[in-house]
Amino acid sequence: MRVLVTGGAGYIGSHAALRLLEDGHSVSVVDSLERGHARTIEILKDVAGDRLEFLRADLADTDALTDLLTRNEHDLAMHFAALTYVGESVERPLDYFRTNTAGGISLLTAMKCAGVRRLIFSSTCATYGEPSPEFVPIGEETPQNPINPYGRSKLQFEEVLRAEVANPKDPTPLAVVALRYFNVAGCDAGGRIGEDHRPESHLIPICLEVALGKREHLTIFGEDYPTADGTCIRDYVHVEDLISAHLAAVDALEPGRFKRWNVGIGRGYSVREVLESCRRVTGHAIPAVRGMRRPGDPPRLYADPSAIARDLGWSANWTDLDAIVATAWRWMQANPRGYG
Ligand code: UDP
Repeated sequence: MRVLVTGGAGYIGSHAALRLLEDGHSVSVVDSLERGHARTIEILKDVAGDRLEFLRADLADTDALTDLLTRNEHDLAMHFAALTYVGESVERPLDYFRTNTAGGISLLTAMKCAGVRRLIFSSTCATYGEPSPEFVPIGEETPQNPINPYGRSKLQFEEVLRAEVANPKDPTPLAVVALRYFNVAGCDAGGRIGEDHRPESHLIPICLEVALGKREHLTIFGEDYPTADGTCIRDYVHVEDLISAHLAAVDALEPGRFKRWNVGIGRGYSVREVLESCRRVTGHAIPAVRGMRRPGDPPRLYADPSAIARDLGWSANWTDLDAIVATAWRWMQANPRGYG
């Protein structure tokens, strides 16, 4: 098949593009390179030769997207391109709604013009906001009450998709799967591509940057949460498992249906447990200091992945946190300056 991968030069999108290419598919990557890395495109080209097409464009450029989609017949789109920092979204809400909501609408418009009617959308557990304890672990029926512009911008695009799949006048109804990710971690087990966010705000890469000598310490954002060790609990799913969930979702696409699944391993790790794991994997002391709570951080977020297991036969292969961290550490050691 030929797949449009938006955000294919970014962390998760590049892992999706790599897997699709390795599986023999053709891939069109569209990425503005605002946050993505040109180097990943070179690496993907080495894998794929002429099965990869790259378009540097913003999601807002509907004409460019339409042109790309009509030049070759595309079977579906996987939509990863987004702004994804909770804290930044509070300070730049317009950018978040413009990229994540309006950008999605632009993509949908281009897909409609080009007759591409299948979409897998990167949604997020941030659409659930701060679920009350009876909803943790978090299933798909948990009320969606996002508490920051990031989560709201993603939920709004889910709403757009729901409306569009239900369009009674559409002769070729849209088919959508929204995958609501929990925390994504680790890198390509082959060590070719990795995680390079600028600025980096994620827990595991920050711990590893301390081990690498790029930072002096980790600041733990709050040790007074109502959890066993006082730090926040998250569900860390390996990026390769996440991509496998996308491939499983392709077969579930059905015209006129909006389907959604949570993607997590179903077990939470506290910030302190992640820190200990990074210490074990790197053999480095990784000093940590106590910091203030980060606004918008719910104490416990982990998935109930039983629906995706039941419906798609998907479950995480990477369930050992040390093994997940080791893939990230391997890439970071080989690429201490990231993509340069
Ligand atoms: N965290 C932390 N120090 C950091 C970065 C993150 O204590 O320097 C905590 C953060 O408060 C959260 C967890 O680590 O509880 C995971 O944060 P991350 O930013 O990796 O992902 P998020 O859960 O925000 O998507």
